[in-house]
Amino acid sequence: MQVLSSPTEVAALSLNMRRLGKRVAFVPTMGALHAGHLALIEAAKRHGDWVVVSIFVNPTQFGPAEDFGRYPRPLEADRQTCEAGGVDLLFTPSREDVYAPDHSVYVVEGNLTRGLCGPHRPGHFRGVLTVVAILLNIALPDVAIFGQKDAQQARLIQRMVRDLRMATRILIAPTVREQDGLALSSRNQYLTEEERCRACVLSEALRLAESCYAAGDRDAVQVCARMRARCEAVVPASAVEYIEAVDFEGLAPVTTLADGTLLALCVRVGKTRLIDNVILGRPHMAAAYGLLA
Ligand code: AMP
Repeated sequence: MQVLSSPTEVAALSLNMRRLGKRVAFVPTMGALHAGHLALIEAAKRHGDWVVVSIFVNPTQFGPAEDFGRYPRPLEADRQTCEAGGVDLLFTPSREDVYAPDHSVYVVEGNLTRGLCGPHRPGHFRGVLTVVAILLNIALPDVAIFGQKDAQQARLIQRMVRDLRMATRILIAPTVREQDGLALSSRNQYLTEEERCRACVLSEALRLAESCYAAGDRDAVQVCARMRARCEAVVPASAVEYIEAVDFEGLAPVTTLADGTLLALCVRVGKTRLIDNVILGRPHMAAAYGLLA
C-alpha cells in the first residue's frame, strides 16, 4: 500500500491507472476507521480495480462549538487497517494540501440541505460538499463510495455530481451496525457505558417505524410521533434534534410513507450527537440511487 499526502502525486497515479484501463474506486473518510469504513472499502474493491482511501478531518465542516479539536486521529492504526483491508493508496493530506491559504470558493446546495441536519449544523454541508469536490478532483475516481449512515450527505453528493456534471459515479453502501443495532460511528467512542445503552434507542425507533410500515401504516406524522415517544422514554425531549420523514430524491418532507421514504433522526445522548436512518422499500430504490446491498 502506498501512503501519499501530495495531491499532485495522487492525481498523477490515478490518471495513470485510468490510462491503463483500471477502474479507480475512492472512499473518503475522516479516519478513526471502523467496520463501517471497511465495508465501504470492500465495496470499493468490488466496483474498482484500484482503491484509494483518504483520511482528512475536514475543518470546514465543523461548527465552532463542534468536536474538530477532539475528533479521534489514530493515524497509525488507520494505516494498518487500510493495509490489511487491501487498500492500494492511502491519501493523508494536510490542511494545506487540501486548501489554498487564501481558499475562497465553496460548494453550496440550496434545496436538499433545508431539512434534517441542514438547519442544525449551519455551514456543515457547505464544508462537506467543498471538501468532497476537492478530493474527487484530486483522486479522479470512476466511482466513489459513501455510507447510508450519512444519508443526507450521500444524496447531496449525488446531487452535486449530477448538477456540476462531475464524472464520478456515487454509490451508497448500507449502514453497518453493532449487534444491538447501534450504527457504527467514530463518535460512538465518546459515549460512556450508560450512554452506550441509551444510544440503541435510535435504531429501535427506526425498527419500530419499519414494523409500522410493514403493518400497513402510511401516516408519516403518526409514525414519527411513535418514534419520538420511543426516544423520549430514554432521553429528554430536548435531546431529540429531529425525526423526519422525507422523500429520498429531494429530501422534502412527506405526509404519506411510501417506498423511497427516508426516515431519519438525530438524538443527542449526553453530549454526543447521533444520527441514523432507514429507507423504506430500500431494495426497490437500489438501482435508481446506487444503493448497494
Ligand atoms: P466519516 O469518517 O465519519 O466521515 O465517514 C466516512 C464514510 O464512512 C462516510 O461515507 C460515512 O457515511 C461512512 N460511514 C460511517 N459510518 C458508517 C457505518 N456505520 N456504516 C456504513 N458507512 C459508514
